Amino acid sequence: MAKILITNGSVISTTGVTPMDVFIDGETITALFMPGTVSPSLQTDRTIDANGKYVIPGGIDVHTHMELPFGGTFASDTFETGSRAAAWGGVTTIVDMAVQRYGENVHEGLAEWHRKADGNCAIDYAFHQIIGGVDDESLKAMRYLTEHEGVSSFKLFMAYPGVFYSDDGQILKAMQTAADCGAVIMMHAENGIAIDVLVAQALARGDTDPKYHSYTRPSPLEAEATHRAIVLSHVAGNAPLYIVHMSAGDALEEVAAARHHGRNVFAETCPQYLWLTLEETLGKPGFEGAKWVCSTPVRSATRDPDHIGYMGHGHQADLWRGLRMNELAIVSTDHCPFCMKDQKELGLGDFSKIPNGIGGVEHRMELVYQGVVKGELTLERWVETCCTTPARMFGMYPRKGIVAPGADADIVIWDPNRQTKIGINDKHHMNMDHSAWEGWVIDGKVDTVLSRGTIVIENDQYVGRKGHGRYIKRGLSQYLV
Ligand SMILES: [Zn+2]
Repeated sequence: MAKILITNGSVISTTGVTPMDVFIDGETITALFMPGTVSPSLQTDRTIDANGKYVIPGGIDVHTHMELPFGGTFASDTFETGSRAAAWGGVTTIVDMAVQRYGENVHEGLAEWHRKADGNCAIDYAFHQIIGGVDDESLKAMRYLTEHEGVSSFKLFMAYPGVFYSDDGQILKAMQTAADCGAVIMMHAENGIAIDVLVAQALARGDTDPKYHSYTRPSPLEAEATHRAIVLSHVAGNAPLYIVHMSAGDALEEVAAARHHGRNVFAETCPQYLWLTLEETLGKPGFEGAKWVCSTPVRSATRDPDHIGYMGHGHQADLWRGLRMNELAIVSTDHCPFCMKDQKELGLGDFSKIPNGIGGVEHRMELVYQGVVKGELTLERWVETCCTTPARMFGMYPRKGIVAPGADADIVIWDPNRQTKIGINDKHHMNMDHSAWEGWVIDGKVDTVLSRGTIVIENDQYVGRKGHGRYIKRGLSQYLV
């Protein structure tokens, strides 16, 4: 394996930006040197000049759905295409959601996900397990997966009745198990029972356009479910709870209050909620808004329609503030791509049949960096929310998430002086026939990406290979109190 020296760059950690040379021996970072202190006798196979550039830990996207079966079709990225797109975006680890649906066996669900990913990934990968049917058998499996399979987090749904939905009693039981074995419960927090009523009423009125997807999922139903999940985790013995894809300021208030009281409650948001508004996306004329149908929904710039819900100002300012204040710990993507043709089009004339999901695994590092450019976050917080905290939250630190001796050599060299233009004829490597970020021009650019010491992106070329990526067995979260 090669010895690589990255010189003249500034290494960003959660606590600072420091000029430092990084030495990689094989798959591992073995030394950091103050500038000018590398001995001339140090043996290297290759030197990369990072002058004027940032050297950051490889991005970790802890919420992706490669090949997810949903709404009569499958998410359009395979592990091969999706992990390659992730690499293009400066991501060196994904944590994908293995699926168990009601009536299925958890172990078989996990085995199926291993089959899909094994030998296909450009970068390292790990799994959470979706539990779509909480019963005695799946509760036992949760404990087994945590202790033996490196799967220490389990996703439950308060939405999608009849598909993935768990009722409050099932949630409580799963949380008791999690509290006992140290696993994290990841929650899709929306009141799906009430949402289904609003959806049926909208369709009966003839309100079938994509924008009604958001109108029928008002933010109070996210806040209510978030609150209920927090109460259940408290009753279950302070079970670790991680709210996924938070989109609403009123839901964020619930998390902030719980954290104030010392609970094991955490949350993530996604770039679509930080940057996109209902009016500019779902609200486009005709069927185009289908591109942005995802759940939780992209929300209004001002407040929810018909004066339901959160008054006064939009949700985005709250979410950025939440990221600064650590009420939101992580930015993930909830990458779940569907093409317009033959997939999103399933919902022509009925928004409730549009497969839910946006592809974004390629653009998270870019879009959150744009928050740094706009003054919303510091460079350190960018690295913390996109690289370091994901590793710590989900039991991969310090092997992942930091540029330090002993860590895997998962490194992104980031050029702050160039720009990235996103769009299907520009930068776009996800397997989709459109981009949710078409035409966006981002300051900053992924320059070079290394996955365990192997260069996978350089000179605007993908030079990695499928099968390089390895399965990462995860330990327990490091944030539990
Ligand atoms: Zn998801």
